[in-house]
Amino acid sequence: MEKPAHQAVGHQQLYSGLIRLHVLHHAAAKPVYGLWLIEELRGHGYKLSAGTLYPLLHGMEKRGYLRSVEERSGRWTRRVYRATPKGREALSEARERVRELFGELFEGRRGSKKVKADSFR
Ligand SMILES: [Zn+2]
Repeated sequence: MEKPAHQAVGHQQLYSGLIRLHVLHHAAAKPVYGLWLIEELRGHGYKLSAGTLYPLLHGMEKRGYLRSVEERSGRWTRRVYRATPKGREALSEARERVRELFGELFEGRRGSKKVKADSFR
């Protein structure tokens, strides 16, 4: 039996949303490229291979959160990603949700009424 690839990097599925938020956060701050993101995410404890990161970036671009262009850097060209207006909007909404989760995880606060209403009505 072949081992699922995600076992090599830990709870990939659980963290995939967090990784996307990291990517969106950095792509909103400045243009970013794949290898830079791999290093950055490694600094946060996420060990992503190019084979995992690039499909993730393509997916986010397809959904309109990121836009990429080829940029020449010396002899090399690399694909550079920026957050779109939709991506920035999604990020600021996600920021509120992360704040909410953070409150529960670290401060024992219950979720706000607004999120509860959204989730259960
Ligand atoms: Zn980061």
